[in-house]
Amino acid sequence: MTRIEQSEDNGRFHLSMRENAYDSLNEALLKSEEASDTNPIPWKYAVLHIAQTLELMFKQRLYDEYPLLLWTKLQPGTHTVTLEESIVRLKYAGIAFDSDDENRLKQTIKWRNAITHYNVDLQIEEIQTCFALLFEFLTRFQTEQYPEEPDLTDHLSPEAKTVAAHVMTFFREDTVLFDGIRMHRTWPAKLTDAQNYPSVNLNEETFNRIAYRREPHWQEHLDWVPRERCHDCSCRIGQLHGPGCCVEECPRCGGQFWFCDCNFDESELWGLTWTDDDLEQDNEAEKDHSGGRYGIYENEPTTENDDSGAKLAEDDKTLTNLAGQPR
Ligand SMILES: [Zn+2]
Ligand SMILES: [Zn+2]
Repeated sequence: MTRIEQSEDNGRFHLSMRENAYDSLNEALLKSEEASDTNPIPWKYAVLHIAQTLELMFKQRLYDEYPLLLWTKLQPGTHTVTLEESIVRLKYAGIAFDSDDENRLKQTIKWRNAITHYNVDLQIEEIQTCFALLFEFLTRFQTEQYPEEPDLTDHLSPEAKTVAAHVMTFFREDTVLFDGIRMHRTWPAKLTDAQNYPSVNLNEETFNRIAYRREPHWQEHLDWVPRERCHDCSCRIGQLHGPGCCVEECPRCGGQFWFCDCNFDESELWGLTWTDDDLEQDNEAEKDHSGGRYGIYENEPTTENDDSGAKLAEDDKTLTNLAGQPR
């Protein structure tokens, strides 16, 4: 993760324009999470911070195009362009937005101006939708303008990333880039939530779930090189699997955790599996992409050691063949 590095020196701290943008995005997400129907005030700050993120990201892009574009009068040391001006200049640079995005940006500018200079009069539902779509816009902007760089979620703190996972559920596009991999838009939230349930119970006994590549047989084959992510749910090494993953091993019987006959006690964990709606969309996604059922690899990760990859593929296939219905 390339989180913000603050250089502190004699009581000063420095953030580059880009780091400044990512920091504002982190705050915007955390404020949006803090807001609720009974406490809507944090939305005010979420709007201010996401408007700030937009402005800084647009300015950075202009700067990357041609440094003088950052300045209103094309002279360093004068005022830098406003958010409105940066949108116009981006157009000159060949970066145009569709009318939906442009309307949403204009609305955000209005909200920000009202909050900064006048009063606050926000419709919560409207803000929620707009916020999710602005975040979607930013993730797209980052990927389109900086295709060689990590996706936007790579710049989020763990807390903000969890919020981002849930906001992505409301994206319009079916798939999202999350934590370096493309997946169905509902999957980041499920994968993130699954981390909150490290154990399950049966007959007053507690069983700790087995994280990806912490399975006992991996201890016997230390020379094997595991894939960096589970091929089915996209979790990383050491993370708990997503709900319904066919690779997760049962800590009680050693079979497939989500499909075995161990009748574990009620847990909110079981409620994380996909709804019929999710599954319908999942089937659509599976038609178009190769890869796991949930995580969709854009580039199949390669392993340095092909032989171990083959062993692993076989190992996973055996488990897949045992698949039944999720509990
Ligand atoms: Zn998995
Ligand atoms: Zn079991």
